[in-house]
This record gives sequence, C-alpha cells and structure tokens, in this order.
Amino acid sequence: MNYIDPELDSPKEECGVIGISTPGNDAAQLAFFGLYALQHRGQEAAGIAVADGQAVRVHKDMGLVSQVFDAGALDPLVGGLAIGHTRYSTTGANSERNVQPYVVETMHGPLGLAHNGNLVNADHLREGLLKRGAGLSSSSDSEVLALMLAATEGESWEHRLSQVMGEWKGAFSLVVLSGTKVIGCRDPWGFRPLSMGRLPSGGHALASETGALRTLGCDSIRELEPGEIVVLQGQMARSIQGVEPAERQARCTFEQIYFSRPDAIWDSMSVHQVRQRFGAAVAAQHPVEADVVIPIPDSSMPAAIGYSAYSGIPYNEGFVKNRYIGRTFIEPTDELRRQGVALKFNTLRENIEGKRVVVVDDSIVRGTTSGPLIKMIREAGALEVHMRVTCPPIAHPCFFGVDMGTHDELIAHHLSVDEIATHIGADSLGYLSVPAMMEALEREDGYCNACFTGDYPIAVQLKLPTTAKKRFDGALA
Ligand code: SF4
Repeated sequence: MNYIDPELDSPKEECGVIGISTPGNDAAQLAFFGLYALQHRGQEAAGIAVADGQAVRVHKDMGLVSQVFDAGALDPLVGGLAIGHTRYSTTGANSERNVQPYVVETMHGPLGLAHNGNLVNADHLREGLLKRGAGLSSSSDSEVLALMLAATEGESWEHRLSQVMGEWKGAFSLVVLSGTKVIGCRDPWGFRPLSMGRLPSGGHALASETGALRTLGCDSIRELEPGEIVVLQGQMARSIQGVEPAERQARCTFEQIYFSRPDAIWDSMSVHQVRQRFGAAVAAQHPVEADVVIPIPDSSMPAAIGYSAYSGIPYNEGFVKNRYIGRTFIEPTDELRRQGVALKFNTLRENIEGKRVVVVDDSIVRGTTSGPLIKMIREAGALEVHMRVTCPPIAHPCFFGVDMGTHDELIAHHLSVDEIATHIGADSLGYLSVPAMMEALEREDGYCNACFTGDYPIAVQLKLPTTAKKRFDGALA
C-alpha cells in the first residue's frame, strides 16, 4: 500500500524543534505547548527531553503531540531545561528508533539533541563513525550529529559544537540539551529557520518558528544568524559565532511559500504578507478573465487574497475542508485518490456554479491532487477552471530536509506547463517565475531555489531519473 495524502500534493517538511530554559519552572509544559504550535511541521512522531541540572529524561513516541503526551506523560519530566521535536520522517525509516530527541550518555555527561534539516554528507560521516567503532542504533542522520558531537574534544558543549559544525554539510537547525544548559545553532547556509525569544516567566526559548515563541508569550524575538550558536543557561542567553556564515546564503524559499505558519516572521518578513505578494505577482504574470478567485484551503488563502486584490476579481471560498481527517492510507488508483480528496474537501456550489473560476494553490509536486480538485470544481458547475500556482514548477528534488520525491515523481520534471494543464484538466495553468518570486520577496539572493532551478547551493549526489516521462504519459490523453 502506498501513502497518499489526500489533502495536499505538497512538499513535506521534516521537523520542528523547540528549546526552553526557564529556571524554577516547568520547562516540559512549555515545550509541549511549543510543539503544539509546530505540529504542522511533522505529524508522525514527537518527543521532549528534560534536564533538572543533572539527569536528562526523555519521553517520545510515534504520533501527534497530543497522542504522545497524553495525561500523565509530562509528570516525570521535571526540570527547568527542555528540548522538543516533532517529526515527519524522510531520512531514516519511519520507525520508533528514529524518533527524537536522541539522548546519549557521554564522557561529558548526558546529551540530548533534536534536529530539523538534512545533511548531504551523512553517509560519509556515518562511515567515519562506524570505522571509529561507534554503534549506531538508527538510520537517521540526526543520530550521526549527536554521536559526532559527543566524540568531539572541547571544554564545553558549545565549544565542541563550534569544533564539529564545519564538518556538517547541509541543513541543520539544532537544539541540544546537557544537564545544565540548552544550546541552539543554525547551519552556515541558513536553510532552516530557528528563532529565540525571552519568556515572560524568566529565561528563554528557541523554536523553529516565531509563532511558537509567541504562543509561549515570548518577547524580544529574533532569528539566529547562519552559523550562530546560542547558549541558554539559567535566565541568561549568550551568543557565539560557531562557524562563519557561508558565502552563498540559502534560506529555503518553501518556508515562505508553504511550510511556515502564516503568523511566522522569517527573514524579517511576515510570511502571510509574503504569500499575499506571491498571489499578486502571479496575477500580474498570468492574468485571466474570471468571476471568482478561490484558494485551496488553508495554506493558499493568503495567496488567493493577493491574487484577488491585484486582479480585482472577487475572492470567495470554494472548498470546505474537513480538518479532522488526518493522513490516510489509500490504494494509489485514480478512483480511490479522487475519493480521498472528496473525503477531505467539499465544494461550495453556490460560490462556483456558472462562474469562471481561478483556483490558487501554493505548489504542484506530483500532480496527484490537482486533477481531482479541478474535477470537483467542474462538477460544482464552474464554466472554466484556471489554476495559478504561487511558486515556479518544481522540477528537482530537495536534499536539504524536504520530501518532494525524486526526479521521477516530480511532474514538472517530465511535462511542460501546457502538458501539466492537460494532465490536471485545467483550462489554463500559470506558475510564478523565479525572478517574479524573488521580486515579490524583495530579495535578490540569499535563498535556495534548487528545487526550481537545479542549482544546488551545496554539491549533492544526484540520482538521475530512470522512468523519464512514461508514468505521466498515460494520463495525458
Ligand atoms: S531545494 Fe527547495 S525545498 Fe529544498 S531547501 Fe531548497 S528551496 Fe527549500
């Protein structure tokens, strides 16, 4: 049985991380609420590790945050220091051994680690550890990070981290827990977000997204710089530059397009406002005469509002989403896929019937759900259906912690825009171009756009596609 997410043919973020230092208070409770706010970054497993000044305790399991931390699960996690993790598995199988935080005993005391991102040299590093006699219990590269850190010389954990960070190639936003402190760091390219804020109860928190820090009531929120290490100890936070920032900065553009919650501030910009600008930009690039603009809920709503504002075409909702249907395992046939989409979405016929519809989505990855959604809009009586996508065609896989599939699976790697329009049954299809996207971002560089351009900011081991266009051809009739 293959996994099909009926909600979204969207890239999957791997993880969210949180770190708390709040002396005299219940750090696990805050980490729990922070993870709740990061649940969208990974729904397959969750965990919290806590330190009380000496020992480190951990509770982690497969499932949503609310399932893993049911009544009583937080009670044994006593202490003022905590790190937490919520996971979507890509690197490493989806098994319990890969659930984070990792906690290991080291010659310097206990060490916990939670990781968002993906290393491109993990295989090489794993081999190095095995040659040195290290025992690896999981297939995840996050364990490689923990064991390398544990084996590095240095007078403190932050010193060891600064010694070893230079060997790690790829995306890593980390939170690390020792018996007495929480440490956060961000890779020198700055792929994944990580921010810090001051807690109202005293102390500080680190989180993948600023929205989680706001949930905890933080003020003085700021983003960690690429290559920066932040040490939270007691009430204090101090910063050191672990490694120099990379010459070519590479923020993941998909955080702006889709991953981060719209209430996040990243790169000093409101993600919600950026998405509205993307919507306006695709309206400018691909105008069409129509009667209504509808989003694919929820993630495309800001972009559809932007499209509507720029084009003057009224915005309305065209779908009602059932928010309580989670991930579903469905046989990968077209009919069952269509049923999966139908379970998740109902159309609002009164907003669609007799109208020329622009439907706005943030991305098309494999092209598996756009077709069924467009069919539903037509069945609700639309006269025309024009699709607008607020990112460029995704033609290349991601090696930095986002599950987009392989070259073979990416529809834009095989088909032209016109062919994709035919494949999904749209009257027209328009994507935002890379230059228009960067203009809407108001940045000339500093972002990774490798999944659109194939120009990777770090050298990667490319696996060339094997099945070429074949698997999409059949549906093109
Ligand atoms: S390849 Fe795409 S998804 Fe991956 S880090 Fe770069 S922009 Fe983000």
